[in-house]
Amino acid sequence: MSDPASRPSRPSQLHDPHLSGVCSPKPKVRDLPPSGRKRIVMLLKRGVLLQCPYCSQGHIIRYPFWIEDCCPRCGYRFAPESGYFVGGYALNLIGAEVIGLIVIIIILLRSNLSLYEQEAIGIGAAILLPIIFFPWSRTLWMALDLTLQGDAHLEQEKHAADSRQQAD
Ligand SMILES: [Zn+2]
Repeated sequence: MSDPASRPSRPSQLHDPHLSGVCSPKPKVRDLPPSGRKRIVMLLKRGVLLQCPYCSQGHIIRYPFWIEDCCPRCGYRFAPESGYFVGGYALNLIGAEVIGLIVIIIILLRSNLSLYEQEAIGIGAAILLPIIFFPWSRTLWMALDLTLQGDAHLEQEKHAADSRQQAD
């Protein structure tokens, strides 16, 4: 057994899932085009189907409110930085409120419900829609982010892999 004091200090490895082995990137199984219309369509489709944006692996959401750290197939880290999904919360709020407002307006215009019943439906929609929409807010946020930023997060992954190789 080696003396821990004699080992080189690598504190950053403690906090980086790529270096700690939590995520094992497998770029060869990723089939997302680097740019263009096809990329946007694939990202949107995969977001709607709750799939990994890079390889279309499903089952990345652990219900009710948790997403895997990394894709089990291609190793893409879904939250490349702390606070990444704050945008997803905003997307969820906007989406749920817009859909809720449309539903309430339709109910108000087309039904003979009492005011009490309309309020109950409106309050129920305001509470339930953000919960129901939550998984899609994560995957659609990734789709939006990867559309706007391209593959910038993969640079971090490459850097981590290079650092790991140098450390070995
Ligand atoms: Zn994947």
